[in-house]
Amino acid sequence: MRTRITELLSIEHPIVQGGMQWVGIAEMASAVSNAGGLGILTGLTQPSPEDLVNEIKRCREMTDNPFAVNLTILPTIKPIPYKEYAQAIVDSGIKIVETAGRNPEPFLPLFKSAGIKVIHKCTSIRHALKAEKIGCDMVSVDGFECAGHPGEDDVTNMILLPLAAKRLKIPFLASGGLGDGKGLAAALAMGADGINMGTRFMVTKEAPIHEKVKQKMVEATELDTSLIYRTLSNTARVFKNSVAQQVIEIESRPGKTQFEDLQSLVQGAKGRELFDTGDLDKGIWSAGMIVGLIDDIPSCHELISRIVAEAEEIIKRRLIEAVS
Ligand code: NAD
Repeated sequence: MRTRITELLSIEHPIVQGGMQWVGIAEMASAVSNAGGLGILTGLTQPSPEDLVNEIKRCREMTDNPFAVNLTILPTIKPIPYKEYAQAIVDSGIKIVETAGRNPEPFLPLFKSAGIKVIHKCTSIRHALKAEKIGCDMVSVDGFECAGHPGEDDVTNMILLPLAAKRLKIPFLASGGLGDGKGLAAALAMGADGINMGTRFMVTKEAPIHEKVKQKMVEATELDTSLIYRTLSNTARVFKNSVAQQVIEIESRPGKTQFEDLQSLVQGAKGRELFDTGDLDKGIWSAGMIVGLIDDIPSCHELISRIVAEAEEIIKRRLIEAVS
């Protein structure tokens, strides 16, 4: 398949891995890039900018193909030295960056002067238009189905993607609710130039998380995610476990919720422990509605090949037959 995204990013297939906290390390990103997609290292998964430099080096030893780095700008428990992370990305010679969360404008002069292509992740058309205006090269349009932070508008990709096609000039990826060839064909039909998948890549052989977490997502249905932090306007879609239910219970109490009421339950360090140990109620973990469509644990190569083959089959046969 050739789209504006495969051309701009110099990748074989129009499939990009989402920048997932604790998951986007060299093993994950290189597996996706080696399979012809675009792998992404998650910047803040590395405890310091120096560690990120080392992780980029490690990833380069594992793949000759392009890969990107994600920089997420959202509220965090500990302050993050964003400028130093951005400089580490530039100094390491990275050529593609995925930004997410807040407006990436303060970082664009640095990235652009280094010839970096910037993909900004947006949960609304107004944010996508803003990203286009400030000079982002492409956007990733994140529908309500997605894992992690879907924003506060609750608009699904069936609406967001055609709107993006209508209003944007720059190429865009569909993100949220994608995990198979039907999704890829549908995203292309709605005007996207490719897809971004997070949750689906968590359930692959190479994802650096405990088998129990992967198995739980294989067993899950489309009803097994929860929205937390709604009361804080920092909504996150996570797997529906006992901790997510406790968070929702605290948020439903009368009066304003303070983040401090939730902090001990949701801190990222506990999510990391959950991924390492397979203790499914240790903390929270991001998961999208696509868990309802995941029923195996393939390698990244098997997964990407199968998605592309299924999408091609739909386009070449089913859709052609429908109009012939
Ligand atoms: P962390 O341990 O600092 O915080 C845990 C969670 O609490 C995060 O979701 C964070 O956004 C939220 N949070 C922290 N302080 C808050 C506040 N004052 N008000 C409201 N919410 C608050 O974060 P982490 O788990 O180490 O993650 C690091 C970064 O990666 C954060 O910016 C986080 O949002 C982001 N992240 C993004 C995704 C995603 O969208 N896919 C998933 C996980 C983490």
